[in-house]
Amino acid sequence: MATPNTVELPAERVPVIAACDVLVVGGGSAGLSAAIAARRQGADVILVERYGYLGGLASGGLIVLLLTLDDGAGNQVVAGLCQELVDRLQARDACFHPPKTEWGDTDDELIERYRRWGLVWGSAPHKVRYSVAYDPEEFKLVANTWVAETGVRLMYHRWASDVVRDGDRVTHVVFTSKAGRQAIACGAVIDTTGDGDIFALAGEPFELEEIHPWLWFRMAGVDDSESAPGGSIRTIRPGQALLPWGAAERISRRIDATNPDDLTFAEVECRRMVMEEVDRLRSQVPGFENAYLTDVSLTPDVTESRRLTGRYVLARDDMDAPFEDVIAVTGHWTKYDCTYQIPFRSLLPQRTANLLAAGRCISVDHRVHHATKEIPACFATGEAAGVAAAMSLASNQAPADLATAELQRALRKAGVWLPK
Ligand SMILES: Cc1cc2nc3c(=O)[nH]c(=O)nc-3n(C[C@H](O)[C@H](O)[C@H](O)COP(=O)(O)OP(=O)(O)OC[C@H]3O[C@@H](n4cnc5c(N)ncnc54)[C@H](O)[C@@H]3O)c2cc1C
Repeated sequence: MATPNTVELPAERVPVIAACDVLVVGGGSAGLSAAIAARRQGADVILVERYGYLGGLASGGLIVLLLTLDDGAGNQVVAGLCQELVDRLQARDACFHPPKTEWGDTDDELIERYRRWGLVWGSAPHKVRYSVAYDPEEFKLVANTWVAETGVRLMYHRWASDVVRDGDRVTHVVFTSKAGRQAIACGAVIDTTGDGDIFALAGEPFELEEIHPWLWFRMAGVDDSESAPGGSIRTIRPGQALLPWGAAERISRRIDATNPDDLTFAEVECRRMVMEEVDRLRSQVPGFENAYLTDVSLTPDVTESRRLTGRYVLARDDMDAPFEDVIAVTGHWTKYDCTYQIPFRSLLPQRTANLLAAGRCISVDHRVHHATKEIPACFATGEAAGVAAAMSLASNQAPADLATAELQRALRKAGVWLPK
């Protein structure tokens, strides 16, 4: 039977189910941080997430290493809400990191110890980093509690599928769920979907990267008393190992993470290959004889997809460069003694006045993305976007028109580290 290429949908009136000052779409690291930051500035905030947990890749994706909160020279450069996350996890005995006295240390034994925890990467000569290993289930619990305590209105199980515009503003975001299509009205919207779904729907320009998928998994019952068997990473639970499975050497095909057919391929093929890897580890690798699979990333782990082409595209040559409108700083997880200052313009789209981006989809080039996609950096850009969105509404101006010095003052007051 020949099928037509398109169908026409009838025009539809969509119910507006809520209104808020700041609407944060996507509950990963950046979205969690943006929502809490905006709420603490006094804004009425709704945080919408398509799944039923917060953290995105940092919890459901089993990417359970904060790399890194330092500059690779022993100095902390990401603080604020990311540090508060560490404190909250610490209070539940749910994370592990080198003590401050060891940051920047070059002692070989210490470095080997932390390498086994997945906290040292890149090439020698190495130093001890301020990086953190944590438990993903505890992350989810901490995040739910944190959001509730702060007074953020949390909405799970809604998938952003459209935006409504009025001139250069987004007035509503439309969500699809089992309840049908519903809209939420907002004063400002922060795109923390990782894939930049909102700025794409709003018609903003972006770059799209195709990547080799990953699928991290964990096994328990591992005898890890001697070394890191099978290239595994220690976790905070005795006998449980993290296996960072994936990349070009494992799976040759690149995928476009905004294409559901590519994602379907990655789900099926990566899970099949992970099963083979589990069998290989158990039958061939000493230490894994009695090991068993406990969990696999809930979705393919996607390093990169859409990146906003915003008011400034932070580029590789900007390493260590100062920016007058700096709103966050990040180190590099494979490099020592260097930082990127992230300018506010890297969170701002070119046209839409009340939209900001945060997390792994901000306006940077492919190289800089290696640094800005990391969880601490996502927390930092999320926090800046949240504070800026709330301040812009309180002062009745577009985020782009905010006085940078005032934004920086508010961020410092909230505990964010920024250069003098
Ligand atoms: C293989 C791999 C290894 C990595 N290793 C590390 C590491 O060791 N340390 C480190 O710090 N970082 C690492 N990273 C980077 C880091 O994990 C991510 O870049 C970071 O967690 C991204 O955070 P985010 O909030 O920007 O996006 P995400 O975590 O992707 O969160 C986006 C959220 O938005 C939701 N969402 C998406 N679309 C919609 C929609 N339309 N409607 C509603 N909700 C939506 C998603 O469900 C998700 O919860 C790694 C990444 C990968 C893939």
